[in-house]
Amino acid sequence: MSGFDPILSERLESVRRGVADAAAEAGRPVSEITTVVVTKFHPESLIRELYRLGVRDFGENRHQEAREKASKLTDLDLTLHFIGQIQGKKFRQIAEYADVVHSLDRVRLVDALGEQDHPLACFVQVNLTEEEDRGGVAPDQLLPLVERVLANPAYDLRGVMAVAPLEEEPRRAFARLRGYSDAVQQLAPRATAISAGMTHDYVEAIAEGATHLRIGTAITGKRPETV
Ligand SMILES: *Cc1c(COP(=O)(O)O)cnc(C)c1O
Repeated sequence: MSGFDPILSERLESVRRGVADAAAEAGRPVSEITTVVVTKFHPESLIRELYRLGVRDFGENRHQEAREKASKLTDLDLTLHFIGQIQGKKFRQIAEYADVVHSLDRVRLVDALGEQDHPLACFVQVNLTEEEDRGGVAPDQLLPLVERVLANPAYDLRGVMAVAPLEEEPRRAFARLRGYSDAVQQLAPRATAISAGMTHDYVEAIAEGATHLRIGTAITGKRPETV
């Protein structure tokens, strides 16, 4: 068994404290907030180490890598969140190993999935930027997309997801996302979840009602193959 990494456990603890403090500040129970630890580019061994530290929710954003890790981790009782852009041709495969998909963002994807043994838990991703190619449905197409998801028994819609634009104050962007969440809940009262907040903006996301944070580098350290 590899040694326990004190740095990793300290970073995890520090984020846990940060989340608890931000929740208290926002007057929200921390129990309604799930921290998904994003382990993209990191080896399977890091996931095992985080699991020993009590983490159960993991996020991956690249299909090949996610599928390979999932196949090696079947002995763990973890929840795998797919958070990256989805290639149409790969979506069925992603739905086989992912427990939750955060990045459903177009009608063609929604229609690609037929009836499942268990409906796929999903978030509809909204594009908060002005650029079309950033991933996420344009806000004016959000409700039609949600209707399509609701009409398909393959899905269990949990809520909305977004990434804050680089060029905007995150709190403002997340406030907009909260408005979209309210609109979605008019159609789908149970779809109350909001997936928002990363290493540099999770405090602002919590202030605007995020229920699922996607935090990578603050916990894992730098990603090995990037930077
Ligand atoms: C990588 C990634 C994250 C985590 O980013 P950090 O800044 O490392 O916390 C969150 N969401 C998505 C969609 C990502 O691709």
